Amino acid sequence: MDYTGLYLLLKKQFPNLKIEKDFPLAPLTTLNIGGPADIFIETKTNDELVNILKFLGQFPALSTSPTTGAGEELENGFVTMLGNGSGILIADAGIRGITIKNTAKTITIHYQSSSNNQSTKLKNNSTHRLENEPQKYLNFGSLDYDETGYPTVDVTLDAGVLMPQAITFLLNQGITGLQWFAYIPASIGGATWYNLHGGSYHFADYIQSAEVFDLKELQIKHLNFGAEAPAKSFDYENSPFQNHPEWVILSTTLRLFKGDIDRARNVVTQWILQKSKVQPMNSAGSVFQNPSLKDSIRLWGEQKSAGWIIDHELGLKGKQSGGAQISLQHANIIINTGTSTAADYLSLVKEVQTKAKQRFNLDLKMEVKTLGM
Ligand SMILES: Cc1cc2nc3c(=O)[nH]c(=O)nc-3n(C[C@H](O)[C@H](O)[C@H](O)COP(=O)(O)OP(=O)(O)OC[C@H]3O[C@@H](n4cnc5c(N)ncnc54)[C@H](O)[C@@H]3O)c2cc1C
Repeated sequence: MDYTGLYLLLKKQFPNLKIEKDFPLAPLTTLNIGGPADIFIETKTNDELVNILKFLGQFPALSTSPTTGAGEELENGFVTMLGNGSGILIADAGIRGITIKNTAKTITIHYQSSSNNQSTKLKNNSTHRLENEPQKYLNFGSLDYDETGYPTVDVTLDAGVLMPQAITFLLNQGITGLQWFAYIPASIGGATWYNLHGGSYHFADYIQSAEVFDLKELQIKHLNFGAEAPAKSFDYENSPFQNHPEWVILSTTLRLFKGDIDRARNVVTQWILQKSKVQPMNSAGSVFQNPSLKDSIRLWGEQKSAGWIIDHELGLKGKQSGGAQISLQHANIIINTGTSTAADYLSLVKEVQTKAKQRFNLDLKMEVKTLGM
């Protein structure tokens, strides 16, 4: 499909926005992999984003049944949202239609609103969190503590705020709760969509509500999750947003704590120290989910992590395909050594999955999200 007409129209209508045609997306991801967007738009405020989404809504033919070059339905109408690009693998052919990155960065602290209790903690699923060699990889046990009992405070963060910025800003305001997510290069939008996890915590443990723009109804909606967030289909790496591609996340309201700042700062420091040794930035984080407890017991008599299996059982640590490599720091991470394509990355994914299936009849599920494929 040729987007030239729409591109020219958008440039005319929104002269102050960054709007590009055939724009390379790889540099907007931590993996630095992927082809161009047909049209790329950067917005810096939620008002800018909502205005452009409303404008695009005038083109129902485009927004309801767009097709890729291959004739497949696009996942999210013809609009794809980018967060900070730290959990995605973009196709070598890029993303059809319109890709938008919103860098809105407002943080609002609601000092008056925090009298009632906090949200329920999502069930801690040790199957997903396990590291078999904590001394070698991540050892969270001694850092973990419960903040229940501290006064709470609600904070609304725009989707474009980056996690490290949020942590630093809030700690400086005397607010804790996000320390478990230190080192993760996610945006608040991506963290909400994905239900980010850090240590024994999920982002959903803190989510009270979210403001979204609904691409079908072309209006802003306030979604209240409150104390029921975990019950409302948040799960490990899963959120209600994944079943609603028409929802563009504008902001998320979290219930955080006026907690022990020194202790929280110490978690941030220690966590960054540990994670930076085993989680290279030129990656998209962990590639595979850990196998189920049932499969692990069947095969090894105890829970094993995907990294342990790839390292000890499949012997694939360090394996390369083109410019992609299974990290020597952590076998459940694939890095771009500089020249990797999406095809290189996926060929390693396939090799791991095929060997795990052949040797153990084990299905390893990819947890990095692909866009444009
Ligand atoms: C070094 C490193 C360490 C990591 N450590 C962890 C970790 O400890 N725990 C963990 O859970 N993950 C980790 N990750 C993975 C990654 O940070 C998460 O997947 C994160 O949630 C991605 O957020 P993002 O803003 O980068 O989103 P992106 O990767 O840009 O996007 C992810 C998905 O969210 C959607 N999305 C983003 N913004 C919006 C929006 N505003 N509205 C609607 N949809 C949106 C996108 O369309 C896409 O489908 C790590 C990654 C790296 C590189």
